[in-house]
Amino acid sequence: MKVPLLDLKPQFSQIKEKLLPKLITQMEQQAFILGPAVEKMEKELADYLGTKYALGVSSGTDALLIALMALGIGDGDEVITSPYTFFATAGCIHRTGATPVFVDIEPDTYNIDVSKIEAAITPKTKAIMPVHLFGQSTDMNEINAIARKHGLSVIEDACQAISSQYEGKMVGNLGTVACFSFFPSKNLGCFGDGGLVSTNDEKLFNKLKCIRVHGTEAQYYHKTVGINGRLDALQAIVVSEKLPYLESWSEGRRKNAARYNSLFSGNKNVVIPVQRPDRKHIYNQYVISVDNRDELKAFLTSNEIGCAVYYPLPLHLQECFSNLGKKAGDFPVSERASKTTLALPVYPELSPEAIDFVAAKINEFTSRKLEKSAS
Ligand SMILES: *Cc1c(COP(=O)(O)O)cnc(C)c1O
Repeated sequence: MKVPLLDLKPQFSQIKEKLLPKLITQMEQQAFILGPAVEKMEKELADYLGTKYALGVSSGTDALLIALMALGIGDGDEVITSPYTFFATAGCIHRTGATPVFVDIEPDTYNIDVSKIEAAITPKTKAIMPVHLFGQSTDMNEINAIARKHGLSVIEDACQAISSQYEGKMVGNLGTVACFSFFPSKNLGCFGDGGLVSTNDEKLFNKLKCIRVHGTEAQYYHKTVGINGRLDALQAIVVSEKLPYLESWSEGRRKNAARYNSLFSGNKNVVIPVQRPDRKHIYNQYVISVDNRDELKAFLTSNEIGCAVYYPLPLHLQECFSNLGKKAGDFPVSERASKTTLALPVYPELSPEAIDFVAAKINEFTSRKLEKSAS
């Protein structure tokens, strides 16, 4: 049986019939950037998240950059985040001229270890940027309490976590500002690059909006220097069309994750992802941890099972950040995770038989490994 890591085709066939005429109507208007379709999507997303404002932007990366710029973060400032995340989180901090300050992660959720944040705060710290990694919220009460105490902003990197909840509240409505990605592999993906920024702060929203279009309020008059962070109308139409399915798609992923969990329950060599009781994990990735990760990956690949390593090199060890002076051993939990974690197929339309097949192959691999080491 061939099992891809992700297959987006079943989602497309679900929405195709209703979506295509809407795309054609938009094309007939030859109106491609921002406009009513984007505004409609923004309103729907703000309603869904429960935030006052939402702004469609060109990608999750640009959402992060625009949020940082709107908060006035730049040269000489520091922003706290985790080194075990997609590159964009720290890349955007660097691009503003600020310095990413890394704090290690928890070994079981792979999210930032909040007990280590305060030790990383200096007079230069302006914000904390927690990443809701793989689709599970960070400990936002604790992060907000630290931020309040030190006068810091909180920027949620919720790019992997749309529809995820913390204490019954949607992520994206938990800090100062939040950033989402509509990259096709995210739980709510468009047909290219796209993203969203959400906030409850009207003044901040106006700044976000201005930065999205080169810092303009009135066309061709620039108060500040912004970027081209606009979203295409066609992408907004795709997001609007998919939004009503998002909850059921995320539920499908949760069901698949639960099935894996029970299939791995007797296997001490597979560490399953942990979901905290006050959170709703939406499994943008279902990530296990195993010794011999690279061998298992090769074994699954040879059995035509898709899998991937998120992420093989923590950000403090990336060449581009060598100026930060960090070395191997500085963030041991992140470094270990980068050597042991493996993402398995978990997309909503995955059949129970496929999950059973993937789990059986993994259980077969780890028990064979055990036999070998015992003999
Ligand atoms: C996907 C992702 C981003 C960037 O989103 P793009 O839309 O690909 O630019 C940022 N942070 C995290 C954690 C992500 O997973």
